[in-house]
Amino acid sequence: MKYYKIFLLIILISFCTLSLNCDVQYIIKLFKFNSYKYSGDINFTKYGWLKGKKIFLDPGHGGQGENDRFRIGPDGITEEEVNLRVALILADMLGKAGVVVSMSREKDDDIPLPDRVDKANKFTPDLIISLHHNGSIRPSDNVNYPLVFIWGNKKVGPMSYSFAEILLDEFQRIMGEKGLVLSDFSIFKETGTMILRETRYTCPGVIGEPGFFSDIKHAKRLNDVQYNQEEAEAYFYAIARFFERGIPKAEVWISSPADHYNSISEKNPIIAIKADSGIEGVGVIKDSLSVTLDDVQVKYKAVTDNLFFIDYGTVLCPGVHSIRFSFKNQRNQSSMIYCAGFTAEIKKGDHERLAVDGAKLLQNKLKQKEGLKMLLSAFSMGPTDPDADSLIWNIARGFDLIGDKVNSEYYYAKLVNFYPQSKYAKKLEPGFKGYRFPVEYNGKPIKIQYEPSLKDESKKQKK
Ligand SMILES: [Zn+2]
Repeated sequence: MKYYKIFLLIILISFCTLSLNCDVQYIIKLFKFNSYKYSGDINFTKYGWLKGKKIFLDPGHGGQGENDRFRIGPDGITEEEVNLRVALILADMLGKAGVVVSMSREKDDDIPLPDRVDKANKFTPDLIISLHHNGSIRPSDNVNYPLVFIWGNKKVGPMSYSFAEILLDEFQRIMGEKGLVLSDFSIFKETGTMILRETRYTCPGVIGEPGFFSDIKHAKRLNDVQYNQEEAEAYFYAIARFFERGIPKAEVWISSPADHYNSISEKNPIIAIKADSGIEGVGVIKDSLSVTLDDVQVKYKAVTDNLFFIDYGTVLCPGVHSIRFSFKNQRNQSSMIYCAGFTAEIKKGDHERLAVDGAKLLQNKLKQKEGLKMLLSAFSMGPTDPDADSLIWNIARGFDLIGDKVNSEYYYAKLVNFYPQSKYAKKLEPGFKGYRFPVEYNGKPIKIQYEPSLKDESKKQKK
């Protein structure tokens, strides 16, 4: 039987070389990659909670191994080849555990990054993993340790960070080397990596780098299918541990109906967050909820075990608003950062009134937060106004006054970048850059829902 297959392969290869002039290497690889199945002894029925979860696997690079000299190891092994082998074995394992898997490539193909991003987002997965291996420009250094990258940082990607920590732990176990979770801003300092950046609102995602193919000893291991399988197992165990903690989800409710512009006319609607731990019988940690309205931290009140009323202050200013929040379930799993936007009805004169009154309130120590909220609301109505520079200046000062340095620097940077000629920009020290990313993080968008029963709930609370 075996001889028969080899014979066929030889005929096929000769045929291609002679008559079609196609890529022999490609065909050999095609045969090779079809055989990367799991042959270990994990009992997949023990991981029932994985059933029905959706995971997107992105084996890094592809289709240019021979030309890409930065990604070739000491004994000719290419990074893209190992990435694909591990991904194929992992996909086989996940399939056996009932996970629905989609891959950016299943062969030695050169798939452009935007296509990978597109495919991932359309699949709407619960987790995205980009599989890579590291390389040092100076192979003689013989560096070899595991790394896991997340987009931005822990603060904007709490769920990605938690998976990254588990994955690093599994990498360290098989490699016997200490490693790190790093921000992908350490690779591209302004934007991070495209695969994680462009999928960051879809689901948590990481780039896994279990070791350096440029290291002589490690390259040998990576060339061994048995070791590829060990890496796939490390990923599998990390995925199992992560999903065992549940995927917290949430909805945002409002007591006032919105029109088709998502605009509400009520002055004091009740806005609530309905949190879901993601696992039956497991609750959410009540004080783990963190909520901002237009980037300003606001308080909330737990009405039931998983329903929270947002305390936005005495009135909701006219303007475009966004509520951003995250929380943890009782298995200490953080939710993604969610974002719900809506508009509180704007009337003539609101913009000027809020800009003037907001600036005044900044003078009053007890009213600074109220003032800042007014300024942000005014800014939301005309972010590209010719005279928005004074508003941005006051907003930056406002954040500074309430002790939020990150947002304050962010708005100062906005001033410098958007209004370089402004007299306010000139007040800043020459060369000031400030923060841009990753503060600019909106979160996973969710639609705010009209929920009339919130009013009854509120009455019950007042009794
Ligand atoms: Zn790579």
